[in-house]
Amino acid sequence: MNLRDYITEVPNFPEKGVSFKDITPLLEDPQGFALAADQLLDFTEGLHIDKVVGIESRGFFFAPLLAHRLNAGFIPARKPGKLPRKIHSQEYELEYGTDALEIHQASISEGDRVLIHDDVLATGGTARAMCDLIDNLGGVVVQCNFLIELSFLNGRDKLEGVPLKSLIIY
Ligand code: IMP
Repeated sequence: MNLRDYITEVPNFPEKGVSFKDITPLLEDPQGFALAADQLLDFTEGLHIDKVVGIESRGFFFAPLLAHRLNAGFIPARKPGKLPRKIHSQEYELEYGTDALEIHQASISEGDRVLIHDDVLATGGTARAMCDLIDNLGGVVVQCNFLIELSFLNGRDKLEGVPLKSLIIY
């Protein structure tokens, strides 16, 4: 089976006019899961990576596995108010209002080579915020990778200069 066959498109979720890409069938299938993990790892071939950042919450499915396989540390990027120690925060724009992502300040050391992973690249606002946060802490973003890219939303334009890889492009 092709990776795309494991994704279910759900019309009008979470709101009218949106075609939601549901990745849970891929997670539930051992072959689909393994295929996605292997292909995400292939994207990183030849790269030295110290830390893998997974974005809450669907970025948490694969980021820890990638970190383990790359012999790198895993850093959860969390929604505001979840992390107990000194945090660094980055706001980003949503369709209505703003949101923010946070990581512990101590998680990134100067010069750390960082892979950012999330399930979906849509408008790019989330990934851009994460790249800025890592930059501000002195890390180097060596790649952002995604299971799915919604290319019609032009997220790539917001991430110019950052190496981007996606497994499935709509
Ligand atoms: P962006 O900031 O517009 O690029 O949105 C990316 C974030 O929205 C990711 O963290 C995704 O989890 C979520 N997202 C947007 N569209 C979808 C979708 O169709 N399926 C699953 N997640 C989505």
